[in-house]
Amino acid sequence: MAREYQAAIVVDTIEEESYRELKESNGSGEKKHLLDGLGQLRRRLKELAEWYGLPYLEERLYSTICPRCGAKMKELSNRRMRCPSCGFNDHRDNVPLLWAKRRYLELLQKQPVFPTQAILLERFFNNLVSQLAPISCKQAV
Ligand SMILES: [Zn+2]
Repeated sequence: MAREYQAAIVVDTIEEESYRELKESNGSGEKKHLLDGLGQLRRRLKELAEWYGLPYLEERLYSTICPRCGAKMKELSNRRMRCPSCGFNDHRDNVPLLWAKRRYLELLQKQPVFPTQAILLERFFNNLVSQLAPISCKQAV
């Protein structure tokens, strides 16, 4: 099968230990359900990436490092993060998403990509991020 699209998948990993802890705690069924869902989503993404031969990267994404300049960010009172070095600021939950985007673009740079496909993928990715954002907010509660 000819590969028409170049894509890469970047997944923010939950640290295995806290994942297991949350999974084994009996208290919150809803949280456990959500974690099971996330685990399944992760496995599915990996399978898809392998099937299509896409670069796949799974790593813990930064939530306190500035995605623009790499400096350590400070947390403000309203769950917003601010970079003292370049002035960049965003909601806490958005910082790892910006890192995911950065890693994703880095992965794509290692492979030749046609401009129109890159734009399509960029749109696809932004779409995905806007769908994932409510999940990560819910997860943080
Ligand atoms: Zn910065």
